[in-house]
Amino acid sequence: MIRKKSGAVFLVGAGPGDPELVTLRGLKLIESADVILYDALVSPRLLEYAKDNVEKIFVGKAHGESSRQSAINDLMVQKARAGKMLVRLKGGDPMVFGRGGEEIEFLIAKKIAVEVVPGITAAFGAFASLVIPVTHRKYASQLALMTGHADPAKKLSGLDYENLARFDGTLIFYMASSRLAQICRELIRRGKKPDTPCVVVRWATTPLEESISGTLKNIFGKVRPRGLESPSLIIVGDVVRHRLTTDKFKTRPLFGKKILITRSAKQSLRLRDKLERLGAEVISLPAIRFSAPVWGPVDEAIGGLENKDFDWVVFTSQNGVDFFSDRLSAKSKDWRILAGAKIAVIGSATAERLAEKGIRPDLIPPKFVAESLFAALKKHNIKGKRFLLLRGDLARPYLREVLKKAGAIVKEVVVYRTFPEKAPSAAVLRNIKACGVDFIPFTSSSSVENFVKSTGSSWLDGKTKIVSIGPVTSRTLKNYGLKVYREAKQFTIDGLIDAICK
Ligand code: SAH
Repeated sequence: MIRKKSGAVFLVGAGPGDPELVTLRGLKLIESADVILYDALVSPRLLEYAKDNVEKIFVGKAHGESSRQSAINDLMVQKARAGKMLVRLKGGDPMVFGRGGEEIEFLIAKKIAVEVVPGITAAFGAFASLVIPVTHRKYASQLALMTGHADPAKKLSGLDYENLARFDGTLIFYMASSRLAQICRELIRRGKKPDTPCVVVRWATTPLEESISGTLKNIFGKVRPRGLESPSLIIVGDVVRHRLTTDKFKTRPLFGKKILITRSAKQSLRLRDKLERLGAEVISLPAIRFSAPVWGPVDEAIGGLENKDFDWVVFTSQNGVDFFSDRLSAKSKDWRILAGAKIAVIGSATAERLAEKGIRPDLIPPKFVAESLFAALKKHNIKGKRFLLLRGDLARPYLREVLKKAGAIVKEVVVYRTFPEKAPSAAVLRNIKACGVDFIPFTSSSSVENFVKSTGSSWLDGKTKIVSIGPVTSRTLKNYGLKVYREAKQFTIDGLIDAICK
């Protein structure tokens, strides 16, 4: 919709770190880009909104690497001339430091159409996150953004400390982590009060956010042992003293917690989004993936549905709905073939997926396990009734067996298959172990099995808490000798999240 004539470059601000802090326009451009060139500080989560076939090129560079800069400029021109819609995704705001201006000059000289989409610059992200009322009228009426690290040719970053020391407002230094001591010393030397409050904040707005407050005189001594390296900002001024208390830590009960999730990448989006919104840092290590079954029996079942051969159709998982739905479309059919049959599901997530297709199940059991579904079905007259169970290859035989015992006629069809994901590389695993995982939520027995097979379990020390979605998964965990820290009360993703937060 906002796609321009071919061959344009959009300089888009990715925001300060939290991927949700991008503009709506920026997001739409990411979604429609053919090529995305992105920097080191851009949240990788934003790239997930790109089209499947988008060309993603990492062009992160260290300060002052102008040779790389000219390669980036050339690449943009080359892509744009090839008619591509290129998004140049830059951390924070594209016009604030980070050489956006130079890139635009170059593109204009080459007669390439350019558009700039602003982003929330790191400092503004940090004010919000730390709740610093930066122009509170009682304390400050001006602020200045500066770089602690300008053109290497200029000495002492080209800052006029004389002036800065006199500046009656808030000073914000970008790219200055390695110059903290020097900046404080210079400001004091030129007359700024040594007890002027300041704060150093690293990775503002992300789950890795850390900040240390102090005064010009003592901040370096406080920061040094913790080593708040890049990317960080130094904020100096009275407003820092007036940081407002916040209940961020209540709205984000998982702030700073590291959570390893083992669902397949596609399936984990919702879980991951929710955990991230609660402040967690989510590490994704999918243990299983799903793939198409042998379609013959599914097609037969579809034929059977058309002949009204079934009284009940049972979906045991969201995946089942997805794969079945795709097959219907592939066969140029639609959900009307289920007309006449009653529809049952095991859990609310499956019901929601069906609802997206416009289908409302007749039966959702009170507890989201097969046992509860059977108990609920028994209240209907199931003797002699014809059931079609659409399930994954690893579903338990329980439902089939009990339904048969109760006199039902059961046809079971596998609508998707489960495979172990490739085991992570030794380096990835080492990183995960080293970072200290706080929680691992498990949503199925198959993910437990494959997780243990590919990563082992001996590294799970007392610190890592294992949370299970329900009794079946808990049993599998125990069989593998893993201690279940908590089991969800409701056997859903939300139940699982509640169990983590409690
Ligand atoms: N265009 C960017 C700035 C690029 S320069 C913007 O508008 O934010 C890179 C510098 O930005 C880093 O050295 C650091 O000083 C700052 N920065 C970027 N992201 C940050 C974050 N999440 N927390 C603290 N500082 C950050």
